Amino acid sequence: MNSPQDDVLIIGAGATGLATALALSDAGRQVRVIDAGALGGATSHGNCGTITPSHAPPLAAPGVPMRALRWMLSPQAPLYIRPRFDPQLWRWLARFAARCNRQDWLQSTQGRAALLNDSRQRLADWVSRHALDCEFAEKGLDYVFRQQANFELHAAECEALQQLGIATQVIDGADYLRQEPAFNAGVVGAIRFPGDASLRPDRYTAELGRVLRARGVQIEEYCALLSFDPSHDGVRAQTSMGEQRARELVLATGAWSPQLVAQVGLRMPIQPGKGYSITTSHPAQVPSRPVALKDRSVFVIAWDGRMRLGGTMEFSGQDCRLNETRLQALEQAAHQYLRQPLGETVHERWYGWRPMTWDDMPVLGRSPKHAHVWLAAGHGMLGISMSSGSGQLMADLITGRAPAIDPAPYRAERFQ
Ligand SMILES: Cc1cc2nc3c(=O)[nH]c(=O)nc-3n(C[C@H](O)[C@H](O)[C@H](O)COP(=O)(O)OP(=O)(O)OC[C@H]3O[C@@H](n4cnc5c(N)ncnc54)[C@H](O)[C@@H]3O)c2cc1C
Repeated sequence: MNSPQDDVLIIGAGATGLATALALSDAGRQVRVIDAGALGGATSHGNCGTITPSHAPPLAAPGVPMRALRWMLSPQAPLYIRPRFDPQLWRWLARFAARCNRQDWLQSTQGRAALLNDSRQRLADWVSRHALDCEFAEKGLDYVFRQQANFELHAAECEALQQLGIATQVIDGADYLRQEPAFNAGVVGAIRFPGDASLRPDRYTAELGRVLRARGVQIEEYCALLSFDPSHDGVRAQTSMGEQRARELVLATGAWSPQLVAQVGLRMPIQPGKGYSITTSHPAQVPSRPVALKDRSVFVIAWDGRMRLGGTMEFSGQDCRLNETRLQALEQAAHQYLRQPLGETVHERWYGWRPMTWDDMPVLGRSPKHAHVWLAAGHGMLGISMSSGSGQLMADLITGRAPAIDPAPYRAERFQ
């Protein structure tokens, strides 16, 4: 194969890579995207599609290590760490545990809030400007509780969230049940986040692909990056379809990034945080907006003709098996909370690897060691929510424009 010279070569056609391609193409740059699999076919496929500035607080919070130790004893708990010898995972967990203090929590919350808020506004703009047909809805999201203590714990956090510009509304259990007949009795309260939104993720990535292709952007599926060789004026990439050369190379490779960046002497401590989803037909009665069954950390979202249960966090390395116990945990939570927990027809049972960094912040920006290599990965539980903001930030940094938000919190230097 001949060796074309691209302006920007993006590796990874998930939400992050495609959003980066769109923002770069908006800026007039010539872009090519390649992916080892199908467009949007990895973690960006079967997730819940919630767009959540409400999730600015990171997973690493005071009290989490003790809760996590208790959960380790139960394979059905929201967080599960498969006991095994894996020094990288244990180092990652130690760094994560060290961040479970008020100061680091606040630092990550601020960095995440800036990107989430920018992304939330930008996504609404993209949906209307590019006519993205992806069931985008601005109905907010509810946390729903059956455990009083858990409800009170989260209600107490609302003031801190309000200070970050995240609107919240605390709703009494009886009022909530009157508003939401889809729920079983026993709900003690709910917290509504009216600023959140949602979309259907497979449609979102397909629509980004449609817009890009209509502009002439080449998207090559089933074309894997094997290795790459940065030099002073560009990057030479060896792919499963031959050599490609580009002036700039962007790695938007989610949970696969650590192995790729290690080839050029970089560290990106990303662990695959495995989550699951079950997609069924639409039962007659569903919650009127996306909900988190908060005591079980399970999300429920309904689209046109579909309902999806999603959640759970499992650290078991790059493990490709569908764990039935974890899928059952989703179903059990739905049975506990909902009158009609599943639709009649099961369309998909799925797992995906969330690219988790230990500070729960993505890595966005130039490689600390290579002028023409750019990194856009590590979006953890929020890669759809953060996609448009991340894409725009990457495009601004690559084109040398002033970014809309401060890029400092996301720099890769923090891990070197
Ligand atoms: C159960 C579950 C529910 C979730 N719910 C939500 C939610 O409601 N809201 C939200 O914001 N986020 C959610 N997430 C998180 C979200 O799905 C991820 O953060 C997001 O999809 C990451 O997108 P990405 O583009 O960075 O990675 P990916 O979508 O994984 O894309 C990376 C791409 O890189 C490609 N690739 C890897 N290696 C190579 C290589 N060598 N050569 C070429 N290509 C390569 C892969 O094939 C892949 O397509 C959820 C995740 C899970 C698991």
